[in-house]
This record gives sequence, structure tokens and C-alpha cells, in this order.
Amino acid sequence: MIIAHAPSGYILATSIMGRVASVAVSAKAIVAAGIVGALAPDFDMVYFHVIDNRQTHHHKYLSHWPIIWLTLATASALWFGYARQSKAAILSLVLCVGGVLHVVLDSFVGDIWWFAPFIDQPYAMFTVAAGFKPWWLSFILHWSFAVELAICIWALLIYRGRSNHSLLARRP
Ligand SMILES: [Zn+2]
Repeated sequence: MIIAHAPSGYILATSIMGRVASVAVSAKAIVAAGIVGALAPDFDMVYFHVIDNRQTHHHKYLSHWPIIWLTLATASALWFGYARQSKAAILSLVLCVGGVLHVVLDSFVGDIWWFAPFIDQPYAMFTVAAGFKPWWLSFILHWSFAVELAICIWALLIYRGRSNHSLLARRP
């Protein structure tokens, strides 16, 4: 997934928001946690370029292991279960679910080592043939990019809906 990670985090955050209305945490903070979480595994690109010298597929790093994000999300869910009013617990939960969402979306047309570190085998739902250069052109010209665009449009529609709603709410 190339462009839809941040919008997917926004969709995730806005869908969770209504369900945690009892917690005194701002909508902005939940949106920020969702977007940061949905982008977080790709922060390893810094390590990939700066330290690893692009030797290893960055999806092989710990930051792209589903077990890490699933464990963190489960731990956050348990934390939130015990501390239902905790802002930190809900923000941690949204962020970690965002991380889970990231690896799921990456697995759509990209390799994800779902059983790392136990099984050294990547899995992808669909494969994009490397027919063009640079590599990202193959992804943009593949049908799966329409799904990425659909996620972006979906997020935009939610954003517009929320903006209109808050404008109406502010009207005297
Ligand atoms: Zn990624």
C-alpha cells in the first residue's frame, strides 16, 4: 500500500470515536493516534535507508511483524478494559489497531511475513508484476491502486461529512 495508510487511519479513528464517547479525549487526539498508528510500521524506512543500506526488505523488520502489533493491540485492549476512563489507554489502543491495519493493508499486494519470527515466509493477497520502472509505477498502474484511491475518497467523504456537521453545530 502506498498512499492509503494515513486515510485508512483516519477512517479507523472516526469509526472508533463514537464507541468511546465516554472517555474525555478529544476527537483530534483520536484522529492523530489513528493516523500515526496506521503509518507507524513504515517509520522503519528511516532505518532501511540510513542504517541498513537497503539490504533487507523492510517488511522483514520487527516493525512489520503482525505478532508485534497484534500483541500491542491486545495489551492496549486489556489496559483499556481495566481503565475505561484512561486517555492513554484509548489512544494506545487506537494507535496499535492502526498498526495492525497497516500490516493487513500492506499484505493486500505486498509481502508480509505473517508468521514472523517463526516462519520465514511472506504472504500477499495479490501480486503486482514488476513491469515498469521505477517500481512504484507498477503499483500505480495495477488495478489494486483503485482500491487505494477508494480508501482515500472514503476518508475524504467522512472528513467532509464531519466538517459540515461541525459547521452546522456551530451555527447559532
Ligand atoms: Zn508498510
